[in-house]
Amino acid sequence: TRAALERIERAADLNAFITVTPESALAEAEAADAARARGEAGPLTGIPIAHKDIFCTEGVRTSCASRMLENFVPPYDAFVVERLRAAGTVSVGKTNMDEFAMGSSNETSYFGAVKNPWDRQAVPGGSSGGSAAAVAAGLVPAATGTDTGGSIRQPAALTGISGLKPTYGRVSRYGIVAFASSLDQAGPMASSAEDLAILLQDMAGFDRRDSTCVERPVPDYRAQMAATDLRGLRVGLPREFLEAEGVDAEVSGGISAAAQALGDAGAEVREISLPNAGMAVPVYYVIAPAEASSNLSRFDGVRYGYRCEAPADLEDLYKRSRGEGFGEEVKRRIMVGTYALSAGYYDAYYHKAQQVRRLVQQDFARAFESVDVIAGPTAPSTAFPLGAKADDPVQMYLSDIFTIAVNLAGLPALSVPAGFGGGGRPIGLQLIGSHFDEGRLLGAAHGYQ
Ligand code: GLN
Repeated sequence: TRAALERIERAADLNAFITVTPESALAEAEAADAARARGEAGPLTGIPIAHKDIFCTEGVRTSCASRMLENFVPPYDAFVVERLRAAGTVSVGKTNMDEFAMGSSNETSYFGAVKNPWDRQAVPGGSSGGSAAAVAAGLVPAATGTDTGGSIRQPAALTGISGLKPTYGRVSRYGIVAFASSLDQAGPMASSAEDLAILLQDMAGFDRRDSTCVERPVPDYRAQMAATDLRGLRVGLPREFLEAEGVDAEVSGGISAAAQALGDAGAEVREISLPNAGMAVPVYYVIAPAEASSNLSRFDGVRYGYRCEAPADLEDLYKRSRGEGFGEEVKRRIMVGTYALSAGYYDAYYHKAQQVRRLVQQDFARAFESVDVIAGPTAPSTAFPLGAKADDPVQMYLSDIFTIAVNLAGLPALSVPAGFGGGGRPIGLQLIGSHFDEGRLLGAAHGYQ
């Protein structure tokens, strides 16, 4: 823990952390030592980790990288924080992110952009960019993230680490600042599939305080991982992913090489089709902003968060608190979402998007009748330069063309490193599994690694 805290201080230029908590970390580390001395150590006892600043932490500021929550100190821990603490981990602080998890480059943070440790002129991806950079730079061995449309997998890919988005409902959302509740899911970020399995073991499980959390036994992920054989594993490569427009040649080359390696290891690699995959991004950018506009209505300047100076009346208080407290991207989402939900437009946008969401889900269900795992790129390019897409929301949204469909379908998926492109920038291989098949997914990733 002490070494991790020193590394974090030395790497301050990465801007990976919003809040560092050395005092409580050292106290937790001592408690972990004592547990170890009593012979009560588990695999995570004393392991320093960092939480994305979207997870509520009792007594520790939780800002969601927004001016709106700049000084918000929650009175309770998120389920994931509670579980990982009970497993013996030591929390060293809260990582930077895109504001309210809206973004793919970590540039929308009120606390400034995060830099990619492989190239400090490049983005680390987002929205869990601080967690990704912290793990990639070796500051901590593991961190937590959340993934609504790719926010664990895409930054994992761009920083050369491993990241898992579990099945929707596998991990409780209790105590996570809500972005789009039907898509949000928490997951681990670390350097290998095996580490992800160890972390997921303690993060998964039923919790009554999240009504969408599924009551289902948690298997032994490491055992399932070890029992997975690449020989005979049926791996599907979606034609639509390989032929998608705007995919860099170095990425498609890296993914073809990864598919070849899986085949050489005995997997049966075959082409499959997800005919509606191309509709995922437009569907997401109706559903996610609609849910966000509703979730973010709680930030009214009255109950918690930022409040403007000297409001003239209640309406002025609402308007200026929200106008000054939220950043540009968050406001864009609220406006799009409010519009899509308005009377008269609801059927044309929100209802239609829900129907197409079902088609996307059905594509996957059909695919999993003939394959065990789906493989493809995590992101269409390697890490791009800071500022390159910051003024072009549509280009930024396209960073998630391969990750978003998975959230719409509620499936588990992970990203693992698959070599490097030009300029030494990491490429990520995405593996997608069927519902609650995390063990086999981790096994496939482990076998590949
Ligand atoms: N980049 C996507 C967005 O901006 C996904 C973000 C996420 O998964 N939290 O909405």
